[in-house]
Amino acid sequence: MENYEKLLDEAYFKIKPIVSSSGRFEIPKIEGHFEGKKTILTNFLQIVSYVRRTPEHFQKFMLRELAASGQIEGDRLVLNMKVPSAKINQKIEQYVKEFVLCKECGKPDTELTKEDRLSFIHCLACGAKHSVRSKI
Ligand SMILES: [Zn+2]
Repeated sequence: MENYEKLLDEAYFKIKPIVSSSGRFEIPKIEGHFEGKKTILTNFLQIVSYVRRTPEHFQKFMLRELAASGQIEGDRLVLNMKVPSAKINQKIEQYVKEFVLCKECGKPDTELTKEDRLSFIHCLACGAKHSVRSKI
C-alpha cells in the first residue's frame, strides 16, 4: 500500500505546475520527434495538465496557429507535417500568455469560463477577470 501511495504522490508531483525559485511559472518544453512527414509530440497531454486547460482547446489552438492538421493519439499530439520544436515551444508560450496567465497578477492559477458566447480568464489568485477570444 505504501508503495502505491508513493506512486500516486509521484504522479501528482509530475503534473503540478512548475514554479521556479523566483516564483515564475515555467512551462515544460515540448518533447517529440519526426516520423516520416509527421511530428509526434510525446508530452503534449503533460503540458496540457500543467496549464490546466482541456486538450481540445489547446489542440485547436496549436493546429490553427501552426496551420497543420493533426490529432491526439493517447498522450501524444500527432501533427501531419514537420514542425521544428522551437516553433512549437513558441506557440505554447503564446497560448499560455493568452489563455492561462492572469493579466493582472501574472499567476497561472486561472480558469477559463464561458458566459454567453464570450470566454473569460478568471484568476483564482487575485480574482481578476479578463475576456479572451472565444474563437480560435
Ligand atoms: Zn490574478
